Amino acid sequence: MSTIAFLGLGNMGGPMAANLVAAGHTVHGYDPVPAAAERAAATGVTVFPAGLEAVMDAAVVITMLPSGELVRRCYDEILPGAQTGALFIDSSTISVDDARTVHQIAGDAGHAQLDAPVSGGVKGATAGTLAFMVGGTEAAVTAARPILEPMAGKVIHCGATGSGQAAKVCNNMVLAVQQIVVGEAFVLADKLGLSAQSLFDVITGATGNCWAVHTNCPVPGPVPTSPANHDFRPGFATALMHKDLGLAMDAVRSTASVAPLGTHAAEIYAAFVVDHGGEDFSAIIETLR
Ligand code: NAD
Repeated sequence: MSTIAFLGLGNMGGPMAANLVAAGHTVHGYDPVPAAAERAAATGVTVFPAGLEAVMDAAVVITMLPSGELVRRCYDEILPGAQTGALFIDSSTISVDDARTVHQIAGDAGHAQLDAPVSGGVKGATAGTLAFMVGGTEAAVTAARPILEPMAGKVIHCGATGSGQAAKVCNNMVLAVQQIVVGEAFVLADKLGLSAQSLFDVITGATGNCWAVHTNCPVPGPVPTSPANHDFRPGFATALMHKDLGLAMDAVRSTASVAPLGTHAAEIYAAFVVDHGGEDFSAIIETLR
């Protein structure tokens, strides 16, 4: 069992850290928001008053922060206090460029470092079933696997540094487009006199099937657990989809890629987030009726 520093004990980091404690690790946590720190302490995390102090005795340092800028600032603050040879794992969703920058900063200080963003949301974080998309060396990924395992349903080594973030933005760009077009299909079906249940039964047994239908169905009825049955309570909040599409668009621009549907989806969610950031992103169907 290891001593693990966990920085960022919010909606995702709190339950992830709790799963590490439950697996028998010693977890040293830090979060500047007192309520987040208190919730983590109640699950067995030893909370420190600063990130620098939390990392001092840790063999592994995990960050789960809102943005790339915060990860960069956090690394600048904590690296001087980290143990020689500590393994750094960043599970925040940040840009590929930021992922490469923080990898370089950690490497210059003598540390192995991985980008390891996740999919699965707060539910997956709580259940310990997150999908980790990992970028970095084989040796670092091998060292990280037993640490990630109590938080993970699966751990996919995607390639070199930045590949985990690349996989995450590509996946979420697909998801954004699918959720919009699934909404379009259900609205069109309604206008054609086709019931939502019939369309659901056909799509889920046919070539249009995808998570945006079989799990996150945007109309009430066919999937009782989908946010459409619960006033579009997330789920995956529109604000987070908007953030991830922003990162996807950064990547499209920096690589001079052509992504007309992803770009249009980013525009649609940029307009929707203004008044609906807290709703599940499947609520986009409401703009199509
Ligand atoms: P959150 O805002 O609930 O938690 C982030 C926490 O980081 C906050 O409690 C904040 O106080 C803390 N923090 C900020 N600066 C810090 C610092 N220097 N040191 C320590 N803690 C600091 O956000 P979240 O929903 O937990 O998301 C975290 C990351 O995971 C984001 O990058 C997000 O995009 C990604 N993500 C979220 C979800 C989701 O469903 N919420 C799903 C997949 C990925």
